[in-house]
Amino acid sequence: MNILHDGLRRVERDSRGQTWLERDLLRCLSPRLRKWLLLGLVLAFSPLPVLAGTLRTLIVQGQSNAAHDMMAGSVELKKILESAGLFSVEFATTPAKGQDMSGFKPDFAAYDLVVVNYDGDRWPAETEAAFEKYMGNGGGMVVVHSADNAFGRWKEFNEMIGVGGWGGRTAKSGPCLRFRDGQWVALEAPGPGGSHGRPHPYVVTTRAPDHPIMQGLPAQWLHVSDELYDRLRGPARNVTVLASAMTDPNTGGSGEEEPVLMAVTYGRGRVFHSTMGHGISQMKCVGFIVTLQRGAEWAATGKVTQKVPDDFPSATESRTRP
Ligand code: ZN
Repeated sequence: MNILHDGLRRVERDSRGQTWLERDLLRCLSPRLRKWLLLGLVLAFSPLPVLAGTLRTLIVQGQSNAAHDMMAGSVELKKILESAGLFSVEFATTPAKGQDMSGFKPDFAAYDLVVVNYDGDRWPAETEAAFEKYMGNGGGMVVVHSADNAFGRWKEFNEMIGVGGWGGRTAKSGPCLRFRDGQWVALEAPGPGGSHGRPHPYVVTTRAPDHPIMQGLPAQWLHVSDELYDRLRGPARNVTVLASAMTDPNTGGSGEEEPVLMAVTYGRGRVFHSTMGHGISQMKCVGFIVTLQRGAEWAATGKVTQKVPDDFPSATESRTRP
């Protein structure tokens, strides 16, 4: 009878919903063990959190030139970076063109990487100085396509990107990077300060296979139809041309190998500069995506830990992701 009563007592629930059996079990455990057990249970039954990357990234945006929707581009760049699993991305958006810029003061130093996806009014002198300091002290920067049209007259920005186009640039804005006898040299050259022919698919040739960004990429791969920037100009100092493409005069190009991927050092800082990616459809190219992800990691850390994916384009077949 006592055994039966004891058995019933053990399965009856008290006011806290616990049975005697459960309370007896909990009592056997030390408070510390109980805490760990509880934590383990919570973790075991929680939905898996999305692992945001640890590299704090700021996309600076807010103004575009007329030929590009850079705000839409920023959303795509954020998606691409986050899909690498390494970056957590925020935006800093400037006031619109012609509006008071004096309050635009992002805290660059709080980030591992700054993506400048912007072409518009100059930033306040204090903000430009803060960005120069951030980069000189070892910051990371990414510049994609028409962002290299920005700030034609900001001397230090031009040092960071190596070469740029449009934005008031002319034949006097500095030399072009030219491939001569297997070497890249900075050569004075006539012509505009930035141009491109008709968009077309083009073959990208690796020029620095040992650079961390390029390790494991094929010697050549086919990019989707895109603008191929030519005759970019600038100080062209501390630039490693990672990859180039031949601009065919038949499509309106310069007839030269033109740099399309560059790594630039600025003080202790690192810059990855891709001239590819005119619009969203060009940013769907796996070659664009993968080089951006690798370039961004290098700019932020000086290393690349990502593997080259199986869907990377070949010399004859371009590949896109949805
Ligand atoms: Zn474009």
